[in-house]
Amino acid sequence: MEQNLTKPQMIDPFGRTVDYLRVSVTDRCDFRCVYCMAEDMTFLPKRDLLTLEELDRMCSAFVDKGVRKLRLTGGEPLVRKGIMGLFRSLSRHRTSGALDELTLTTNGSQLAKYASELVDCGVERVNVSIDTLDHAKFREITRWGDLGRVMEGLEAARAAGLAVKINAVALKGVNEFEITDMMSWAHGEGFDLTLIETMPLGDIEGDRTDQYLPLSLVRQRLEETHTLTPIPHKTGGPARYVEVAETGGRLGFITPLTHNFCESCNRVRITCTGTIYMCLGQDDAADLREPLRASESDELLHAAIDEAIGRKPKGHDFVIERAGAAPSVSRHMSMTGG
Ligand code: SAM
Ligand code: SF4
Repeated sequence: MEQNLTKPQMIDPFGRTVDYLRVSVTDRCDFRCVYCMAEDMTFLPKRDLLTLEELDRMCSAFVDKGVRKLRLTGGEPLVRKGIMGLFRSLSRHRTSGALDELTLTTNGSQLAKYASELVDCGVERVNVSIDTLDHAKFREITRWGDLGRVMEGLEAARAAGLAVKINAVALKGVNEFEITDMMSWAHGEGFDLTLIETMPLGDIEGDRTDQYLPLSLVRQRLEETHTLTPIPHKTGGPARYVEVAETGGRLGFITPLTHNFCESCNRVRITCTGTIYMCLGQDDAADLREPLRASESDELLHAAIDEAIGRKPKGHDFVIERAGAAPSVSRHMSMTGG
């Protein structure tokens, strides 16, 4: 969509326009994916969380400052009580044209319940995370998840008219040899598929070197049987896309480890407690909850946002460390919002 030049823009020190905000609305989840969480997670006390009204104010302040794409994530966004109220109230920014996109990333467990209401709120696309099509393996990866329910969610999404992108984390020895089948399935269903490398975020009670599968290898293997043509398709995210001649579908690669994508970074992330992280792979952060709560007007909040954007770092430098080493970044993806 055309850039609205009358709207303010947030420009970071490296000249990048920040127009994409990802908000983790809860650190809780009804799954415990092995690469994302420990089984026995300690979640934040509810009083530390921004209320839904505060989340609305926070998101709206960013929209006022030039954000054009807003993604709610988590944890699992659809398990936060009252979340549809937040979607409904944020939908005013879609109606006004201030936002080009209001969307979410979900594990799909609650999608059957909410798909049509999401469409009513101006959501047009959803990202649904599925790492395998094998029911038993799905249970193993998510520890608590039921693939059947997620599939019902996908059906509901389709019926409601939502475009679906499947996100799959490439996991060595787990879904490594299932990726071609997953691609055929996703493309057959009319869904895009994006593959993601595991990132070293948070302690997960295990060794990440056991899980890490470089997408360069996955791509090389796929190219033995498929014709992958790079295409300029952009969704505002870091994925690089190819078109697959044999399936006619789109396949994305998110490769924070084998190919650094920071040069074109256009986003910042907010946690459910109102901390802004200017880079997923760095620890530097700023508290926005205090300026938000300090006054009813948004001046302090706007100033704190400007200050944070003014120190957005150039990029991350993930390395999957040797066995036993601490993760590169100690917070979990569910905290910062994947
Ligand atoms: N619960 C929702 C879901 O699973 O889609 C939204 C939050 S989840 C943290 C967002 C995405 O991050 C998911 O696609 C998940 O697979 C991915 N993810 C979680 N931990 C990751 C890690 N350490 N490395 C790479 N991707 C990760
Ligand atoms: Fe939950 Fe998503 Fe993390 Fe899985 S990846 S545990 S579904 S937040």
